[in-house]
Amino acid sequence: MLTGDLRADCGNCFGLCCVALTFSRSADFPIDKAAGEPCRNLQTDFRCGIHQKLRPEGFQGCTVYDCFGAGQKISRLAGKSWREQPGQQMFEALPIMRQLHELLWYLADAAEREQARSLRPQLQQASERIEKLTLRPDVTSVDLPEERRLVNELLLQTSQLVRGRQKKKDRRGADLFGAKLRGVDLRSANLRGAYLIAADLRGADLRQADLIGADLRDTRLEGADLTGALFLTQSQVNAARGDSKTKLPPTVARPAHWTT
Ligand code: SF4
Repeated sequence: MLTGDLRADCGNCFGLCCVALTFSRSADFPIDKAAGEPCRNLQTDFRCGIHQKLRPEGFQGCTVYDCFGAGQKISRLAGKSWREQPGQQMFEALPIMRQLHELLWYLADAAEREQARSLRPQLQQASERIEKLTLRPDVTSVDLPEERRLVNELLLQTSQLVRGRQKKKDRRGADLFGAKLRGVDLRSANLRGAYLIAADLRGADLRQADLIGADLRDTRLEGADLTGALFLTQSQVNAARGDSKTKLPPTVARPAHWTT
């Protein structure tokens, strides 16, 4: 499976995330919404009525969310929409399916790395195992922590193969909230799970940096180079701030709301 196969395809989904998830009035949402309650902007054709103006309308959270293709898979497996049959099962499956698809996305990102070709058989095996889990009718009973642990071992090995030995740049889990890192050399750095909220990384060199789980909310990435960055997801990029000069890996798209 390729990373490109694990993108949300809202046209083939019954708008599951617009119903299943909880909203709390905040900077991300202008309303409260309970899980299982359809969003007021969801149309009968399962399209969003304010898709072109989500941010101006205060629904920033929707522009950051990415289901990694979990929504359309549940819709396809269910066959009928939640409007035609009780949707509880679909709504409960979404968060689990999303996490399994996120793991598939990481494994695909790893498998696409030339430096990690020796790991491809194991990556393929793990990917096939998780794909089977996503097809189980009782997907909600999957042992997610165990699956995460198994996949993470492979991702760590991939990271080391791609980045090489970079002991000086180990910032794993670092609290870099609002840090002034403009133009710094973070090539091949380990930024796994780092808190980079509102950090200034304008013009920084982040090539081949491992960014898995890094919190990039409002991180300044204008002019930064993220070519080859590892495990960088669309959600992370959507939550950050960038511009036309930000260099991104081909596995993610430039967000429409970034400045030019
Ligand atoms: S605002 Fe649009 S995208 Fe967001 S939950 Fe509502 S219908 Fe879905």
